[in-house]
Amino acid sequence: MEKVKLHENSYFIEKLNTSSIGDNIDECLSCGACNSSCSWFDGHGGPVPRQMIKMAVLGLDDALIKSGMLWDCLLCNRCTQNCPMGITMSKVVRIGRSHPRAFELISADIQTGIKSRLSTGDVNGLTREDFIETIEWMAEEFAEDVNDPNAKIPYDLKGARFLYLPNPRELGINLLHLSAMAKLFYASNQSWTMSSKHTDVTNWGYFVSDDEIAKKMALMVIEPAEALGIETLVLSECGHGYHVLKVLAEKLIGRKPEFQVISMPEFVLRFVKKGIIKLDKTVHPFPTAYHDPCNLGRKSGLYDAPRQLLALCCKEVVELIPNRENAVCCGGGGGMLQDSTSKAKRMITGKAKADQIIASGVKNIAAPCLSCHRQIGDISKHFKLGVKVDTIAAMASRSLVLPRNNSK
Ligand code: SF4
Ligand code: SF4
Repeated sequence: MEKVKLHENSYFIEKLNTSSIGDNIDECLSCGACNSSCSWFDGHGGPVPRQMIKMAVLGLDDALIKSGMLWDCLLCNRCTQNCPMGITMSKVVRIGRSHPRAFELISADIQTGIKSRLSTGDVNGLTREDFIETIEWMAEEFAEDVNDPNAKIPYDLKGARFLYLPNPRELGINLLHLSAMAKLFYASNQSWTMSSKHTDVTNWGYFVSDDEIAKKMALMVIEPAEALGIETLVLSECGHGYHVLKVLAEKLIGRKPEFQVISMPEFVLRFVKKGIIKLDKTVHPFPTAYHDPCNLGRKSGLYDAPRQLLALCCKEVVELIPNRENAVCCGGGGGMLQDSTSKAKRMITGKAKADQIIASGVKNIAAPCLSCHRQIGDISKHFKLGVKVDTIAAMASRSLVLPRNNSK
């Protein structure tokens, strides 16, 4: 058996014991509370959080990297919730992933996506010309949909109050989601725009823990938004995109962006409260369970706005147990969903979510993150749950009450 060496010059020891908050692994008590709350199941491989911390404390850099645990971790922080020392697993694992040798193990799909994003502004390589062609074609359909020949999907509109930043899937396989958002902006009666210069809310620099890449990607969004002179950036339903642009951006770029950042449910709710957007909950006459995306809830503190909006769009909001801070990860976080070879693993990590859904007895789930949306759709098929998964934008758009002359 290969002998493991304690490294005197350990990257992990150097990086992980220098910060006072969240990643001071020397304080680990070895209590194991993290193990019992990990989203992976015992006996199915995956990360063992206490073991990861102990290997890092001992400076077993090679053994930890070879274990694969750094890349299997979902960065969901469910274990952190129960850690008496407040050791923040997503910080520890992200620092681990930044080790030069761990960095070499990044999935090929994530590497390709990062290259595309940095060269074209979009993780799928959508060019500015592709973006304009798609938006102009969609705008024609949209005008027909809202029965208003003057209705537009504006882009590059200087001085617009709101800028909408979509998930790349909305300009590809999920065009209906973008139509839903356009309808909600139209109903809000506000000046809004999209931008042909930055079409992507995601930031895969976060997954690979390269702060230089994450900073570049954040600036690719922030600088053109500032040039347009917007007041508020409205983010599509993307958990890690929200976490990076709302929580981490200031530290990443070294200053505050010159605009406010809000999520799509917060935007819609604002105009519902003002009486401008009207919603009809009878359109969804069935109970709907709300899924807390880890990046939105536990890692960014956004719990109430999506629930409040959902309550205005359906008969009843059902809580999955546990929820909020203790919510169960969908099983696709940390870059797992973005790796096309991860399906078998995702069906293991998704088992806890599937069990939760079965226990709720509900057949409709709302997930305000397009990654969670896809993962829950996949586990529904795999475990034969028979549930329908919606985004909150899709539900709000279907519930929208437009003026009579807009009704078709
Ligand atoms: S962050 Fe999530 S997946 Fe990673 S070790 Fe903790 S509970 Fe497990
Ligand atoms: S819960 Fe915290 S203190 Fe306990 S073993 Fe895990 S990391 Fe260490």
